Amino acid sequence: MLAKEMMNKKLNPLLIQGGRVIDPSQGIDEIGSLLIADGKISWLGGGEITPPRPDYDIVHAQGLVVCPGLIDLHCHLRQPGFEEKETIATGTRAAARGGFTTICCMPNTNPPLDKLATVDYIKSISATEGVVRVLPVGCISKGRRGEELAELSELASAGVIAFSDDGEPAANSRLMRQALDYGRASGLPIIDHCEDKALTEGGQMNEGIVSTRLGLRGMPAVAEEIIVARDLALAQLTGARLHIAHVSTAGSVDLIRRAKETGVQVTAEVTPHHLTLTEEKVIGYNTNAKVNPPLRTERDIQSLIQGLKENVIDIIATDHAPHTEADKLGEFALAPFGISGFETALGILMSLVHGGQLSLVTLIAKLTCEPAKIIGNKYGKLGTLGIGAPADVTLFDPDMEWVVDTRAFASKGKNTPLAGARLKGRVMATLSQGEFVYRDGSVKVKERIAG
Ligand SMILES: [Zn+2]
Repeated sequence: MLAKEMMNKKLNPLLIQGGRVIDPSQGIDEIGSLLIADGKISWLGGGEITPPRPDYDIVHAQGLVVCPGLIDLHCHLRQPGFEEKETIATGTRAAARGGFTTICCMPNTNPPLDKLATVDYIKSISATEGVVRVLPVGCISKGRRGEELAELSELASAGVIAFSDDGEPAANSRLMRQALDYGRASGLPIIDHCEDKALTEGGQMNEGIVSTRLGLRGMPAVAEEIIVARDLALAQLTGARLHIAHVSTAGSVDLIRRAKETGVQVTAEVTPHHLTLTEEKVIGYNTNAKVNPPLRTERDIQSLIQGLKENVIDIIATDHAPHTEADKLGEFALAPFGISGFETALGILMSLVHGGQLSLVTLIAKLTCEPAKIIGNKYGKLGTLGIGAPADVTLFDPDMEWVVDTRAFASKGKNTPLAGARLKGRVMATLSQGEFVYRDGSVKVKERIAG
């Protein structure tokens, strides 16, 4: 769904020439070129080619990685209800700057996405004001109150890609079982925010040595693991698809590994911040490092990376959670949880590649074809540069160093513990259905005039 003015504009066909084309969906990693026409991938091959006709625009991609547009299964766009934090217009522009061309927005808006009319509202605002594809996630329960199932069949027919009460667990096990039963019938996954709220009440950060030192109430790892274990058992019982959001502990990775070994239909995600930052970021009472689930320990990070490599964890999702500066000012205990993640995701994740902990191809798979598998084919072929697929393409420089300047963010949310950090790896251009929705000034398009 693209902004209308873009849909109506006649696009020149495009040749992206001489980049390192990485498309894990087709097992491709080679210097190559691709052609885009009518918003779709029309050709892909090795080496550098000359344009087939004189009306092609040319992008010289030498030195850049060219991959399918990134897909984010988990973000918060805050509209309707919290437009001071983010809107679909600003959030989709931030996504484009981060290399994302498909983003799935969580339903904790006001009103929440528990009715057909609200889902339709998101779809229509995305079509008129968004610049990348927005796919909504519907609520599990009415009002996200965890009491009574929402009208899941109505939401499914409105086109939601999953159900979740994200931000809240489904505390009632019977409700979760009913949701999974319905999910199985509809074929849609239940996205699970795993948190035993009785154990995290008043919690501010990971429970451990650092929380003790700072005098902040902790959120123990077991608060996550108890609900992971419960819902894996319920997924086994119902045969439904369960997707565990933002896995943050080594214990959760172990539980998911064992469940997968016994055939439970579970997928899981991890965020860029849980893969790269520890609880030490909170020292100094930095509210921009306050996030739920909380940043954990180096040992958890190593388990999460191992989980990614073994496909225990299927995908990386940002959990982009923008807040205003006023929200994050003041007392640590009063600040809301969340990190603005779109615009730093690739840069911080590339530290794992440069550090030799994850291959570039694996990283791209976790951000493209793997989340596409969870979404399914309802919205066309996503996460691939296959011929005929929508021309959603990301170009990035894996070696460019840059300093995170939150003033340059398109997101209204400047809340990131990475402000001022030096990252290596930068998104240079993003195409959504054949149209540039972000382009760094250094990426030149040589326009050709039809002959
Ligand atoms: Zn959550």
